[in-house]
Amino acid sequence: MGTSFEGRRALVTGITGQDGSYLAEQLLERGYRVYGLVRRLSTPNTQNIAHLLDRVVLLDGDLHDAASLDTALRASEPEEIYNLAAQSFVGVSFNQPVVTGEVTGLGVVRLLEAMRARADKARFYQAASSEMFGKVKRSPQDETTEFHPRSPYGVAKTYAYWACVNYRESYGLFVSNGILFNHESPRRGREFVTRKISDGVARIKLGLASKLKLGTLTTHRDWGYAPEYVDLMWRILQAPVPSDFVGATGEMHSVEEFVELAFRHVGIEDWRPYVEEDPRFKRPAEVDLLCGDAKKAKLELGWEAKVKVPELVKLMVDNDLALLRGSAPRAA
Ligand code: NDP
Ligand code: GDP
Repeated sequence: MGTSFEGRRALVTGITGQDGSYLAEQLLERGYRVYGLVRRLSTPNTQNIAHLLDRVVLLDGDLHDAASLDTALRASEPEEIYNLAAQSFVGVSFNQPVVTGEVTGLGVVRLLEAMRARADKARFYQAASSEMFGKVKRSPQDETTEFHPRSPYGVAKTYAYWACVNYRESYGLFVSNGILFNHESPRRGREFVTRKISDGVARIKLGLASKLKLGTLTTHRDWGYAPEYVDLMWRILQAPVPSDFVGATGEMHSVEEFVELAFRHVGIEDWRPYVEEDPRFKRPAEVDLLCGDAKKAKLELGWEAKVKVPELVKLMVDNDLALLRGSAPRAA
């Protein structure tokens, strides 16, 4: 990567999460000065950015608190703002719909307002989601497909998406949505199905667990590799005009296929004795399938997902095996 962006300032909300940590790495490699918004927790949660702590500036803030966002923008004076912070887990959004709406929905408006007041020349990336397509109107889904969200998370992301479009149209701000399909990595939270599977299979392989309890196995997702998707976020903000882009692999696999590939990778051909269906992990409403068409990102930004599910499964299972054996200090 070149260093023509030397000294540019970027503010990343959600820097402690999966995407925020990869994005911070890539921005640093490009020469950016990186600021990260971090909320106060009783036990600090910086393991994903532990290796970056001497190179990023962390600012206290929370999407609930408009004043803290204003302060963070004044302190960082960003040219680029990446809003990745969210209550990001669909499952929990059914139990905490109001918190999800506050953070994942209204929090975005608080940040847009702070940008309007303090950094109106900045470029703003919003982490929109394929969950907005929900009960899909057609397949594959692209930037023109109608939304029908199926969870409080999907509803909040849809509100935030339209707020971004509205701030672009109302105030002429550079605000873009990345409508990204599921993307995973060794840093994915363990409650998400891919990481739950890679961690569970690694534990079974090492004799640390005997069962993996899952919900619905028949749903299909378009799973990609997170480091490639954060590169897309950056490309979206380098475009000549603000716009909305889908990021996806264009391939769809079922949860069951992911399970099968993960067990096969550790030499277990018959996974069925190890997997138990548990109603606790089923949702009141499901998104049965998601499959994206990222043609616009390819044509306009030169972006394409390269890592597909078979490779993704291997790298995630291998990383969890290494973590459990103590031979890897942290998720790659
Ligand atoms: P993570 O859950 O790993 O990270 C979420 C981040 O948001 C964490 O840093 C978290 O901080 C922070 N956060 C949560 N609540 C607040 C709050 N009230 N104020 C400030 N920060 C907060 O998500 P991902 O990295 O996977 O995803 C990044 C974004 O992209 C999210 O908005 C997600 O919804 C969206 N997205 C993700 C997709 C995916 O497949 N990964 C697909 C499409 C969209 P803490 O560490 O303290 O909890
Ligand atoms: P999502 O697409 O953002 O909801 O990502 P998840 O990884 O949470 O879920 C992907 C799919 O896996 C959904 O259809 C879930 O219902 C399904 N799934 C099946 N079992 C589980 C489970 O035990 N945990 C999670 N998180 N999802 C599961």
